[in-house]
Amino acid sequence: MTLATTVRALAGVGPAKARLLANLKIETVRDLLYWAPRKYVDCTNPQPIGELTVGSSVAVLAHVSQVAKRQTKSRKTIVSALLTDDSGSIEATWFNQPYLESTLKRTRQALFWGVVNRHWQTGLPILMAPKIETAPRVVPIYSTTTGLSSRQLNKMITTIVGQLVLPDPLEPTVRAQADVIELAKALSYLHEPVSMSDVAIAKRRLLFDELYVLQLRLAQAKKRLLQHQATSIKADAQLLKKFVGTLPFTLTDDQRQAVWQMALELNQTQPMHRLLNGDVGSGKTVVAVALMLLTVKSGHRAILMAPTEILVQQHRATITTLLNSFGVSIGLVTAGTKELDADILIGTHALLSKDVALPNVGLVVIDEQHRFGVRQRTLLRRRATEGRRAPHVLALTATPIPRSLALILFGDLDITVLHGLPAGRLPITTAVVQPTDEPQVYATMHAALARQEQIYVVCPLIEEQRGDELIVDERQSVKAVFERLQASSFGQYRMQVLHGQLPSYEKEAILTAFRDGQLDILISTSVVEVGVDIPRATVMVIESAERFGIAQLHQLRGRIGRRHLPATCYLMVREPSDAALARCQRVASTLDGFELAQFDLQQRGPGELVGLAQKGLNPLFLGDLDVNLLETAQRLARENC
Ligand code: ADP
Ligand code: MG
Repeated sequence: MTLATTVRALAGVGPAKARLLANLKIETVRDLLYWAPRKYVDCTNPQPIGELTVGSSVAVLAHVSQVAKRQTKSRKTIVSALLTDDSGSIEATWFNQPYLESTLKRTRQALFWGVVNRHWQTGLPILMAPKIETAPRVVPIYSTTTGLSSRQLNKMITTIVGQLVLPDPLEPTVRAQADVIELAKALSYLHEPVSMSDVAIAKRRLLFDELYVLQLRLAQAKKRLLQHQATSIKADAQLLKKFVGTLPFTLTDDQRQAVWQMALELNQTQPMHRLLNGDVGSGKTVVAVALMLLTVKSGHRAILMAPTEILVQQHRATITTLLNSFGVSIGLVTAGTKELDADILIGTHALLSKDVALPNVGLVVIDEQHRFGVRQRTLLRRRATEGRRAPHVLALTATPIPRSLALILFGDLDITVLHGLPAGRLPITTAVVQPTDEPQVYATMHAALARQEQIYVVCPLIEEQRGDELIVDERQSVKAVFERLQASSFGQYRMQVLHGQLPSYEKEAILTAFRDGQLDILISTSVVEVGVDIPRATVMVIESAERFGIAQLHQLRGRIGRRHLPATCYLMVREPSDAALARCQRVASTLDGFELAQFDLQQRGPGELVGLAQKGLNPLFLGDLDVNLLETAQRLARENC
């Protein structure tokens, strides 16, 4: 018997049982062994009967007396017994299990576990159909299917665990370094734990396996990369100093360290492969621009890829200003424009197109990394690779990512974190509001407009079922709000709608008008989410905020309060549910994106998060993603691959 043996070949598994197992998608011995219990009932610490409370899940160690069997009017058998310990007694009943009468009569003392109910007539606590154990143990509870009890499944699995001689794919040295137990032992602890700490030890090993396999794959990708040579970029301190001197602000310590750390890495012939992880508005762009400047002045080209044309336009404007006195030429690469003869190319995924040649590239920067897949990142790097010469790669996050998740999603990258935001920003006030608060919201909007400030109204995408198709009509969602505002006291102000279905030149024209102060109110879908920077926008109203996720709300809010003007963000909740309100309240409670991201991760659980499922990770073992274990897995994988 091996892990690949089909369950049909097992003794005691006939066609009927095999079918039941197939219902659970269990086909091989491996499937069975890794069918992790859904939960465990700990019967090692029985509770005193006198202290049981109704509704709780309990285990009691009791003497059995007064065993009786009777029939109900509807001809069901009820077996009942009185369970007693030093602290008190409780009645227990079982429906339609007549054979229990003789079992119980033979039992003097046993463990009983189940949920405490209230007797429908007497109102006294009662145990309905508690499970019976002969000795204290931890009982694994499995997800299963009708016709196959959790207990039968457990029996089947533990029999195999006892028989199978399982080689451990992890070498003893790695096991020791990671502080995990042998595989065979882990599987036995998983299905037959003596205590709950056995379960924890077992899960640690199985989780480590998952993380290690993933990290090995990532480490191999990194190793392949290191077989390439990168261009050494001159770490020109003079030039950096000059650049920093021309900025309209002072760099934060984190920014300065990030620039210098990466400048030294670019100086190596080993390709840099790094993620800059920072909050919305933490100033990642200027860090990237400093490195692009070094690259260009070293005689190579730099490439910046961003997910939308709006962002590409904005980057061009910003970078043109920032590098104004350095004589650097900038070219745009979008679906419609191909200006390839420049020092810095800024483009959308049009950069990935086959007919765009990218010679002499020293550095590739990918903005808002989450909008691109790993594949696109790799593809861009390949396009910019000539023979064995690969570019340095810097990826920027859009919102902060918790370290644990960054290690999983971007384990092939090294990580630099920008903590906090540049000083001098006034905090954004965030308020969760409901339709009845509209007068207050309108008053704030009017006051801001009177100060010549600008307003975003963000609308959710509304999906509509038309026939078989789920249609997302962005026009619909912004149109209704636009008409409502036009007909209201805001009718005198200049407003426009912006959504993804507009042609890009129009989107661009509208955003330019908004940035130049020719518009007062921009009514938009979440196309403004990514990186857009409008200095005088100080109020944002997010309509139907309940339809947005935490990261997205935080991203959107980051569009305002980007200068020294106080800003207000309203989360207008139209269909309040407890979960949605809690989510919005949480966003309102802090401006710390790292904290929100961590909360989001805990809420949704790692299993649900993008990318994990495709990576084949078993969410059952992921638990709460122990960062230390992850780091160990990454370190050992990089050492051993
Ligand atoms: P993100 O990290 O979200 O991409 P940006 O790079 O767009 O943020 O920066 C947000 C804003 O903060 C920009 O207007 C930028 O000019 C400004 N900024 C960046 N660094 C600093 C700093 N050290 N002090 C003040 N403002 C800064
Ligand atoms: Mg940005």
